[in-house]
Amino acid sequence: MAKMLAALLNLQSVERQIAAVRERLTGRKNAVVSQQARLDKFKADWKASHEKYLNRRKDSDRLALDLKAKEEQVGKLRTSLNSAKTNKEYAAILTQINTFKADNAKVEDAALRMIQDAETVGAEADAIQQQIAGEQTRLEEIEKASAQEIARLTAMLEDLTAQRTEAAGLVPRDALAIFDRIAPTFEGEAMAVIEIHGRKPPHEYICGGCYMSLNAEHANILRSRDELRTCDNCGRILYLQPQGEGSPAQ
Ligand SMILES: [Zn+2]
Repeated sequence: MAKMLAALLNLQSVERQIAAVRERLTGRKNAVVSQQARLDKFKADWKASHEKYLNRRKDSDRLALDLKAKEEQVGKLRTSLNSAKTNKEYAAILTQINTFKADNAKVEDAALRMIQDAETVGAEADAIQQQIAGEQTRLEEIEKASAQEIARLTAMLEDLTAQRTEAAGLVPRDALAIFDRIAPTFEGEAMAVIEIHGRKPPHEYICGGCYMSLNAEHANILRSRDELRTCDNCGRILYLQPQGEGSPAQ
């Protein structure tokens, strides 16, 4: 194959590997970030649940105090019942006692419900706490596995970067400038093979990068010259499949 295009293809091969390693690195880093986010969400849920539990407890404590005060009042009224001077006074105190007792029964019910509610919420908070412990362990596992993998991929990337410098050194400067301009757009895939369709002439030529039709001129010139030609549609650098490496595409 023509020397310049061969050097460019080699460079693309290294670029492709760099892109793949970068993608895996990003994936690894994202795994840690998303597990951390998951853990943070559980922690926030626990905090909300725990606060709810504390509020319920506070409410039920308040009701218990209220109840105690009312019972004390009933106690006092019972004492004054004994010192009632008239039947009318006696009946009035008795009515008061009964009113208090009825109120107290309601407060007692409410307090009971509040305590049950607090227990339910408390159990929810405990369940979340369990999940947090599990997610925390999972985060540590992911972090540990990721740290090893990130170190391995980073070393690979360093190695590939050195390979890229070497490969780039074999490409003429003008061609390299064009390659470097195109490569980032296509994640390192700056080059596209010219697909030749049809068994007999006139063949149909297609850009292997964007699948648009190509002028036959590109293939005709590349058959005899080591020239940098780009796809009119996507701008990728075109090359012909080296002879003997696969037959024309159908
Ligand atoms: Zn194209």
